[in-house]
Amino acid sequence: MSIVRCPSCSHRISSLATECPNCGYSKTNTQIDPETIALRHLRGLRYRARMATYFAMLITMVGFLMWWFQNGGFNQLPGKASQLLIAIGVVGYLAARIWLFKVSSQLKKT
Ligand SMILES: [Zn+2]
Repeated sequence: MSIVRCPSCSHRISSLATECPNCGYSKTNTQIDPETIALRHLRGLRYRARMATYFAMLITMVGFLMWWFQNGGFNQLPGKASQLLIAIGVVGYLAARIWLFKVSSQLKKT
């Protein structure tokens, strides 16, 4: 058994699984209607957008941790690297949330 990427949403799945637990992609069923393909594509996008928000949160947290450990607290202004990480994290998080919101509202329509 090994871990492979789902061809539809690139979620990590077991090579033995007949169906992707994330988007429902089935290896055995090759005849899929276009609507289902579009839906799976959107679910894959939603998964990626969600991952992007987590990643942005992680960057922000690393920025705050750096700030904390460099100064022994938040009583001094953060260094350049911490500022940059926090800025990228916050902007990235907002962008990812907007992306996630757009994908989710498209999913609701279908
Ligand atoms: Zn999948």
